[in-house]
Amino acid sequence: PTAARHEDLISIKVDSPHVKYEDDAIISQYSYRDTHVNVVNKADGTTEYQAKPVTSQYQFKTGRKVPKTGLMMVGWGGNNGTTLTASVLSNRENLTWNNKEGLQKPNFYGSLVRASTIRLGSDPVTGKDIYVPFGSVLPMVHPNDLVLGGWDISGMTIDAATTRAKVLDYDLQRQLVPLTKNMKPLRSIYYPDFIAANQEDRVDNILPGSDKQAHLDQLRTDIREFKQNNGVEQVIVVWTANTERYSEIIPGVNDTADNLLNAIKTSHSEVSPSTLFAVACILERVPYINGAPQNTFVPGAIELAERHKAFIGGDDLKTGQTRFKTALAEMLVNAGIKPLSIASYNHLGNNDGHNLSVPSTFQSKEISKRGVVDDLVESNALLYPRASKNSLPSKEIDHCIVIKYLPAVGDGKVAMDDYYSELTLGGRNRIMVSNICEDSLLATPILMDLVLLAELMTRITYTDGDSANAEESYKTMYTIMSLLSFSLKAPLAKKGREAVNAISRQRNGLANFMKGLIGLPPNDDVLLESRLW
Ligand code: NAD
Repeated sequence: PTAARHEDLISIKVDSPHVKYEDDAIISQYSYRDTHVNVVNKADGTTEYQAKPVTSQYQFKTGRKVPKTGLMMVGWGGNNGTTLTASVLSNRENLTWNNKEGLQKPNFYGSLVRASTIRLGSDPVTGKDIYVPFGSVLPMVHPNDLVLGGWDISGMTIDAATTRAKVLDYDLQRQLVPLTKNMKPLRSIYYPDFIAANQEDRVDNILPGSDKQAHLDQLRTDIREFKQNNGVEQVIVVWTANTERYSEIIPGVNDTADNLLNAIKTSHSEVSPSTLFAVACILERVPYINGAPQNTFVPGAIELAERHKAFIGGDDLKTGQTRFKTALAEMLVNAGIKPLSIASYNHLGNNDGHNLSVPSTFQSKEISKRGVVDDLVESNALLYPRASKNSLPSKEIDHCIVIKYLPAVGDGKVAMDDYYSELTLGGRNRIMVSNICEDSLLATPILMDLVLLAELMTRITYTDGDSANAEESYKTMYTIMSLLSFSLKAPLAKKGREAVNAISRQRNGLANFMKGLIGLPPNDDVLLESRLW
């Protein structure tokens, strides 16, 4: 048996009139406070912001019984898929291994849920802030308990695929072999037009034919059989396969749910493998997360997910360069410094880099990397003035993204960024950052977070103020799991709502929501104890 870890020995007991612990659920009364603003442009050229605080009451219910959960990875035999498998197995089995630094022990460093903390409050006597593990606030799946599986167009077993990935120390690879040699990915869908031609060499494990309806049906069967064979109550599916090119949005084909279903029936060429996986999961009511940048969630897929009240999340993992960018750009803009340009260069030598070395897949990545400072620009009209009151900012940040494939550097992706900003009185500031990523070791804990949080989202239901207490009136959360956006490079947003990219806002949103579910107020860092006499 593995020794209990610090974080597994912690429990939180809340003494609050806003929370009730029942055997199977935590019920919380949630007062959601915001401010409604009416912007009035007056005839004399002035603008008045009319602000009104508003409070809405909700009752949230979080299921306490954590289901036995399976994780199915699309692209299981890739660098991320094999590294995630290694992470779960080495933690579960408490493997230790040697490298040139000495004896290594497994951990979950890099995981928001398993390796970061939340400020619970402060000790009134000592005045010290008290932090608890993020994953201890609510009942969540332990990654060691995940049942692993998935698909790959390459049929290599996971032990061989781990060797191919060249990510882990040899001594760890060696010890994983007995645990992974019987893990073989299920056959997957391969439509060559959607990924780089250079991937063809790997392809030896695919579903026959070109009938997309038959492919969809097989994926649904795979999910059901995985559930049944492993006795799991819940399955989460993540796309960690190659980046695909963008799908063209064609009216009548993928613009509505019914058109998309029909396009699958008629095997329309513009339905991508990743969209087929998404549709299979939606129809099976299994949460589906897109860890790559392509537009899997065409409008028809989103409408279908809404119709079935299924959970979807995406797009693309926010790992090295973009994570840094959404922290640094937020810091600059919120400090009143005006970024003029951001130039982002990358070179990487793993299979992801090989696939991204052709224009169509690179473009998907470029789009997901480029949009991440747009909302910051929009947030500050002092730095980025609008041409007219209602227009978008007149000048945006010059932002360029370059990605080159350099086989020699393998998984050690190099990201180099030049942030060039305007200071007061015509001054200029230049911040140049070089970030060596160990790509898959950054991505894996993030993928894991997405899985753990997605499972949690499926156990949260709510009623609004009017219908409190009526059992049947509890609703599930909205289809797009935007609370997962801390880990996502180009977060999907609900129609009519803007995506939040700034990393501290993303984290606060999630942490405060989780505190709200156990009846605690949000952290607002006002800290009056420190400010008043
Ligand atoms: P990888 O190329 O090592 O692995 C991808 C795997 O997907 C391969 O084994 C390939 O055979 C398989 N595959 C391709 N098409 C498939 C299909 N239709 N069905 C099933 N399997 C299929 O890549 P990786 O480094 O593991 O990255 C995976 C994805 O995650 C990429 O799209 C990448 O852009 C994205 N991503 C990675 C990072 C990171 O830091 N590692 C960050 C953000 C996004």
